[in-house]
Amino acid sequence: MSRTVGIDLGTTNSEVAVVENGQARVLPGEDGDLILPSCVGFSDTGKLLVGREALRQYAAAPDRTVRSIKRWMGTDHKTTLRVDTASDESRDYLPHEISAMILRALKQRAETALGETVTQAVITVPAYFTDAQRQATKTAGEIAGLEVLQIINEPTAAALAYDVRSEETEQVLVYDLGGGTFDVSVVEITGEVTEVLSSHGNNQLGGDDFDRRLQLHLAERFRQTHGVDVPDDLATQARLLRAAEQVKVTLSAHAFAPVREAFLGSKGKTALHLEAEISRSDFEDLIRPLLEETLEAIDRALTDADLDAEDLDRIILVGGSTRIPLVQQMVEEHLGQPPVDGVQPDLCVALGAALQAGVLVGEDVEAILVDVIPHSLGISAAVDTPMGIMPGFFSVIIPRNSVVPISRSEVYSTLSPNQSAVEIEIFQGENQIAEENVPLGSYKIEKLPPGPAGSIQIEVHFDFDLNGILTVTTTEKGKGQQGTLVVNNAGIQRLSSHELKQARADLDALFEADETIDVSSVSTTLKRFLSTPN
Ligand code: AMP
Repeated sequence: MSRTVGIDLGTTNSEVAVVENGQARVLPGEDGDLILPSCVGFSDTGKLLVGREALRQYAAAPDRTVRSIKRWMGTDHKTTLRVDTASDESRDYLPHEISAMILRALKQRAETALGETVTQAVITVPAYFTDAQRQATKTAGEIAGLEVLQIINEPTAAALAYDVRSEETEQVLVYDLGGGTFDVSVVEITGEVTEVLSSHGNNQLGGDDFDRRLQLHLAERFRQTHGVDVPDDLATQARLLRAAEQVKVTLSAHAFAPVREAFLGSKGKTALHLEAEISRSDFEDLIRPLLEETLEAIDRALTDADLDAEDLDRIILVGGSTRIPLVQQMVEEHLGQPPVDGVQPDLCVALGAALQAGVLVGEDVEAILVDVIPHSLGISAAVDTPMGIMPGFFSVIIPRNSVVPISRSEVYSTLSPNQSAVEIEIFQGENQIAEENVPLGSYKIEKLPPGPAGSIQIEVHFDFDLNGILTVTTTEKGKGQQGTLVVNNAGIQRLSSHELKQARADLDALFEADETIDVSSVSTTLKRFLSTPN
């Protein structure tokens, strides 16, 4: 039997997904990775490389490697690639020929994962793509050996993944921030019909820009420490850029990220290393101006669609860069409502394309099922509320209904002067009083260095994995003292995206009815303390 797949052919990354037993899932490569970098190259022996292998050689061999070809789709821009190092032979490729290599690799990936041939596909494109760009995408699919059943818009696919299929008309804003491009679209959805009302963006803005800003920041830190510049050669700068991306990704889940790059430069005969710690707020200061530009694009898209922010029924985040907490926060503050989540933002376009493929070939398609945590997880802390310091508060670190796996951290300070110990007491539940929830475990951190109240900072990090295992790690910022506790029984629940939406609405209603302070809504401005253990 031959299978039909959904493909997100992205500027930075691509994915292939399929519907099985009514549910969509993204297919992994043999290395287990769900994402295939949209990068093509030839090795020094002339072997075709697609994906991570090609990306790895990009910095060292730009004459044999190409990325972001999607920017050129529909044009006759030629990419010259050196295909044979020995004979120095080069060849010219058109954008759809390069894209066909990526699609071919995705087809192969799907065939290996499914053990069946794959001959048909639904492929997604940005809403602003012209006819020529759509046609080029279709041709690329055909060259790769795929019958392209339909080309659909990325925001439409994202909305499908979020199960926006109500009978009522919904206005949905799709904010898509990937590696190299940013798009915002306003779509109107009635039943199965999705209409793109407006679309704006910047095809030169994305996570790569954040990496470059962080790269410059790291270089500056190096210069301040050692009094010399990081060497300007390709290989060293590529290392610095990779370190920057790693820091960025770490900071989506942690408040601080360490950087250690040995032998990055030298002074005379002495080797110099980069050793630094970057805080989330350092990183946020670097990217805030870029994110402000995306808010302007939102306003333009709303104006073009003749809508106000209040008219929006949902906000959907798409693209790997929307995992950055500041992105979520700025979009929410700007539009006055939280984005829905429930599907991994860098996979939802492929999942939506697979659902559409399933519908087209007459499969019984249900909503996507997601694994969520059924109860909020947090610790007991004293919090500084508008009514004064309240001890024994349940300080939530991972809110209920978060999609797993998930990592989150919060930073707490000591409450008293010269406080030498704190106790980390972990609870699950929804009550604002910690003791009223279910205790999951506790441990002490002792021998804290002396100092005034609030001077010692402790990062508490929660890691919740797909097996329902919660790992709590605490790091005392001064001496780097660490503690860890593993809780095995925190549990997972499977909800459809529809049920998830309902569960969230129920929870919101609960909070609105509650007269006590809703700490979740002011959490970013709250100060949190850990008092001395009893
Ligand atoms: P996409 O084009 O949607 O695959 O997004 C790729 C971009 O998302 C790259 O710039 C990645 O570095 C970035 N990205 C992926 N995961 C994260 C994360 N956890 N935090 C911040 N950026 C991320």
